Amino acid sequence: MEYDCVYKNPNEPIEARVKDLLSRMTLKEKIGQMTQIERSFATPFALSQHSIGSVLNSGGSVPVENALSSDWADMIDGFQRSALKSRLGIPLIYGLDAVHGNNNVYGATIFPHNVGLGATRDADLAERIGAATALEVRASGAHYTFAPCVAVCKDPRWGRCYESYGEDTEIVRKMTSIVSGLQGKLPEGHEHGYPFVAGRNKVVACAKHFVGDGGTYKGENEGNTTLSYEELERIHMAPYLDCISQGVSTVMASYSSWNGRKLHADRFLLTEILKEKLGFKGFLISDWEGLDRLCHPHGSDYLYCVKSAVNAGIDMVMVGLTFEPFIKDLTFLVESGEVPISRIDDAVERILRVKFAAGLFEFPFSDRSLLDTVGCKPHRDLAREAVRKSLVLLKNGKDLGKPFLPLDRKAKRILVAGTHADDLGFQCGGWTKTWYGSTGRITIGTTILDAVKATVGAETEVIYEKVPSKDTINRSEFSFAIVAVGEPPYAESLGDNSELKIPFNGADIISLVAEKIPTLVILISGRPLLLEPQLLGKTDAFVAAWLPGTEALGITDVIFGDHDFKGQLPMTWFRSVEQLNQPTDRVNSQDPLFPLGFGLTYK
Ligand code: BGC
Repeated sequence: MEYDCVYKNPNEPIEARVKDLLSRMTLKEKIGQMTQIERSFATPFALSQHSIGSVLNSGGSVPVENALSSDWADMIDGFQRSALKSRLGIPLIYGLDAVHGNNNVYGATIFPHNVGLGATRDADLAERIGAATALEVRASGAHYTFAPCVAVCKDPRWGRCYESYGEDTEIVRKMTSIVSGLQGKLPEGHEHGYPFVAGRNKVVACAKHFVGDGGTYKGENEGNTTLSYEELERIHMAPYLDCISQGVSTVMASYSSWNGRKLHADRFLLTEILKEKLGFKGFLISDWEGLDRLCHPHGSDYLYCVKSAVNAGIDMVMVGLTFEPFIKDLTFLVESGEVPISRIDDAVERILRVKFAAGLFEFPFSDRSLLDTVGCKPHRDLAREAVRKSLVLLKNGKDLGKPFLPLDRKAKRILVAGTHADDLGFQCGGWTKTWYGSTGRITIGTTILDAVKATVGAETEVIYEKVPSKDTINRSEFSFAIVAVGEPPYAESLGDNSELKIPFNGADIISLVAEKIPTLVILISGRPLLLEPQLLGKTDAFVAAWLPGTEALGITDVIFGDHDFKGQLPMTWFRSVEQLNQPTDRVNSQDPLFPLGFGLTYK
């Protein structure tokens, strides 16, 4: 086949294609490529006339309620058709937050959130989850996921704690293997730091949020991390190096600050360290309205924010709800020499490099043959395996040598209770269907109650009461109770919490039931919560199940004894909120309720 120019020829090396295409682009087209817009602003005119580089759906922005994968694919292919009508026909890259499976789509497999995966410490599992997620993302027509979050969460008060694999850098490093699952494994001899996507069944990944997002003072979301450079590198930057070594194609800057300086404007960290020292050659994306947040609400103007961020090294800008000001201001800054054209060219080269590496010029549209993978049995089995491995057994039996678990599946009558026993939305947590998550049967899946009913024998009577009445507890004879309580879904700053108590009177429900009936408590939460010693004392067994997602059969697999517990705490379980004001290493060496790594087994 004859190609009329180098960039269109898939047989040419990527760098030659990038250079050729760049040489043909106007300033307007270059700035368009640097712009990522929200899907609700993605008109055919914007996409084709501005040569917009990328579209995303911000959390909760779905094409229609309960949109299926095929709806998504129709929508994204439509955007792509408009993008391809631009003068040079540069395909767009569509990004979304598929942070525990393709959580945007109705019927997708929802895996445990990262904190639960951190409890498994199973790198191979993370890689397989990445591969399954890649298929379900590509099935929806998207090419790009803003995952993994490789934050090292040093404080459970942080509302994004559950997006972190844990407080220990080594655990997070291990779990970065998800990058190889999402993008594919690097071939031998691949140039260090060069972006990589193995084919149409893989997605562009994004290591976020660079850097130190999990180390802010008192766990404040978007707060400030005070550390020496050496500590920042050792604790928070190390996982990025692992991602870069696996060819991660993009990195997202953090809203947070390091020693008082906002990351989005930190040229030292973004350019000198990430790009020059760590050798990252993909593109660096801003966070949602990350530039606006550089501006003091009453102070400096957007022009200043654009200049600081782009000169600091941001390549693609997730502009938020309007894109015209960004395009206008960046154009002005380049024309007036305040942002050098070499910086623009570098940004655009990086973006094009990722697009070529991902094969978008050859395969811009969705592959409908992947639709069958969405929520398929093998993926649900994988999620179930992940749930099984993520459970951490904190207590088993009131008396030493007398274990309470495993439960008897032939028991005569059992009580299932608690706010989280029959709520799929709660089980999935934030970033599921909507940004902050929601409650009830939000998608296809199995609740704890469903799983218990499917596991016990026909002769077992299962009574379910969300908040059981005293009558039920006193009058009926139960062999045992399973009480599931925990946190409501939340995302980002909405989840910052300085008290960390079990919400919805969870402690009262536990006390009420455990007073009369031998009780297993299953805690559904994105982080360790405060457990009063008397409360723990009343229970017969206690399991931390994190935010397990759609497959609660993974829980019953273990509590009824078909599998052993394998999970180990990815975070220290503190005794009091006061303890959190000390460094975690110190709490761990002194007096935690349960130390990092704790987890009982049946053996
Ligand atoms: C979050 C990012 C996310 C982005 C796009 C931001 O608010 O901080 O983690 O990828 O939104 O949804």
